[in-house]
Amino acid sequence: MKTSTTVSSSSPVGVTAQALARAGVVAVARDFTISHLPNDEYYAVHQAKRQLVFHHTAGSHRPDWTVHGWNSDRLGRVGTAFLIGGISTRNGNNDWDGHILEAFPPENWAHHLGLKTAQNEALNKASIGIELCNYGYVTRKRDGSFWSYVNHPVPKEQVVDLGYEWRGYRYWHSYTDAQLEAARKLLLQLSERFTISLKKTWSAADFTVQEAALQGTSGVWTHSQFREDKFDCYPHSHLLQMLNSL
Ligand SMILES: [Zn+2]
Repeated sequence: MKTSTTVSSSSPVGVTAQALARAGVVAVARDFTISHLPNDEYYAVHQAKRQLVFHHTAGSHRPDWTVHGWNSDRLGRVGTAFLIGGISTRNGNNDWDGHILEAFPPENWAHHLGLKTAQNEALNKASIGIELCNYGYVTRKRDGSFWSYVNHPVPKEQVVDLGYEWRGYRYWHSYTDAQLEAARKLLLQLSERFTISLKKTWSAADFTVQEAALQGTSGVWTHSQFREDKFDCYPHSHLLQMLNSL
């Protein structure tokens, strides 16, 4: 079972600024929920942070469902501090769109990179993971419909065509505007709190494994820049615009 600490809400209702201030958190988006995993699902120890790393949940629009999954699995302390909700692919529900869920305090850590190198633990400790609720690549069937990797239909208006194949796929479950705006505000807050520079010029060509990421260079990264076999995140033009605007 998920246990909630400090302020929490099971529905996407924004908590008050006072409650957030008590919890030591600055409100960064129209919706922000703190709903912490139990202590045995992350390492509740303070760590210095150098990197902010984006991921996909590879799941639905609801961040709380992903966190519930982390709590129910037997993978141990695997997860990220933040998740940002999206729009339902089933019925277009947008209650969670751009809603940030804090699953554990960002100064603590859990495994989220899964590297097979000696640096794996140090890099996980010194980074803050941010999951975008997103299915990743989608495939186009002959009738023009799009399907996620779990074989669920994805509405056309939620699909972005890169115009080329990235890691073997041309069509992707789109990031939403509210998701990227929430991500932008969260990055600004975390940059200030942990003194991590956001200044970087991004292009689609940067979405390859980066030696600097693996060496622990401070800044914003995506999981796909640490691992060749990962699809999170992909070079959506709106993501590039957001990162270049920081
Ligand atoms: Zn990832």
